[in-house]
Amino acid sequence: MATRRLYYEDGQQTAFTATVLSCTPTGTGYEVILDRTAFYPEGGGQACDLGTLGTAQVLDVQEKEEQVVHLCDCALEPGALVDGCVQWQRRFDLMQQHTGEHILSGLIFKKYGYQNSGFHVGKDVMEVDFDGPIPSEDLWALEEEANALIWQNLPVHCYYPAREELPHIPYRTKRALPWPVRIVEIPGGDICACCGIHVAFTGQVGLIKILSCVALRGGVRLELVCGQRAYRYMAHIFGQNREISRLLSAKMPETAAAVQSLQTHCSEEKYRAGALQKKVFEYVAAGYAGQSLALHFEEGLNSGGVRDLAQAIGQYAAVSVVCSGSDDAVYSICIYSEHTDVSVFGKQAIQSLNGRGGGKKEAVQGTVHATRGQIVRFFEDAAQSVHGLQEVSILGKNHRKQQIK
Ligand SMILES: [Zn+2]
Repeated sequence: MATRRLYYEDGQQTAFTATVLSCTPTGTGYEVILDRTAFYPEGGGQACDLGTLGTAQVLDVQEKEEQVVHLCDCALEPGALVDGCVQWQRRFDLMQQHTGEHILSGLIFKKYGYQNSGFHVGKDVMEVDFDGPIPSEDLWALEEEANALIWQNLPVHCYYPAREELPHIPYRTKRALPWPVRIVEIPGGDICACCGIHVAFTGQVGLIKILSCVALRGGVRLELVCGQRAYRYMAHIFGQNREISRLLSAKMPETAAAVQSLQTHCSEEKYRAGALQKKVFEYVAAGYAGQSLALHFEEGLNSGGVRDLAQAIGQYAAVSVVCSGSDDAVYSICIYSEHTDVSVFGKQAIQSLNGRGGGKKEAVQGTVHATRGQIVRFFEDAAQSVHGLQEVSILGKNHRKQQIK
């Protein structure tokens, strides 16, 4: 026996009484079939209703042929009368999204002739796909037009036209549909074949906001929110803007300009800091003039800074080693030379200091898990070992015997 679908008779009905026709245990609960129901089963991109049937929680609702199957967390007695209660908040939210989607899809169909090729109401946002491109400059006009239709508070008319009437109705559809076809019409807005449930008047959608538009398979995917979701989303963004306004001491409508000026200021400062750092590096490097192997520790440098300083010192010392970091974490290290191939020595050094890295003949870079003391000892030993010296070739003619600072 086909379930009587109360949700099609009245989309606002949340309480009803029905007779339990069957109750079948499954691995995940009990599948309950009633003679009538106000629970909308998942379908047409719209999630199912949730709520209670007597003392049982309704966990899922699916359509199986002509029947609506309620997955419940406990058994119900076949033949018994049971009171059903649909969670209104969830139902209303889903209806707001679905009707809002129809309004926008109807406008897009009218303007470009595009069909809606995908529709999904997610937990936070709704995704709607269209089978053609929409120029980004058109999006906000479409959004404005959709909101204007919402505020006209037009009736949302759901009906089953007679078979002979149907060919004369210019409704949107993706494919040929089995009889009977249910039509959802918003006068001046949209006419579409649809099995979903909708608010009674467009005003109940409240607000529609497009969040994004990305190219997808020759068309686009829009992310949007309607109704309470749109309000919550906008309230969240408003809160963010208020905080930015407070942090930047800028008026709320002027935060973007304030961020832009902060960005300009930051890049100028970054440039200035870079120039100053170069001077400091030059000053530090000159202190190593004439040395064979210079080992230098500097605080607070990233890997780029470590390399730049090693390069600067490498203009004065035959081989330079720069480390930045701490005994508690790791040291970023760079072994550099202008004229000597440090590729083998550098990699061996990093390996011996329990680190990882790599490089080419003029520079080897990486991170080491060693203490400052261990690093100093390693390079002292390397500098004093004849074998090590040959390997790194730091006994150049123009250099004094190795010294390590
Ligand atoms: Zn629909």
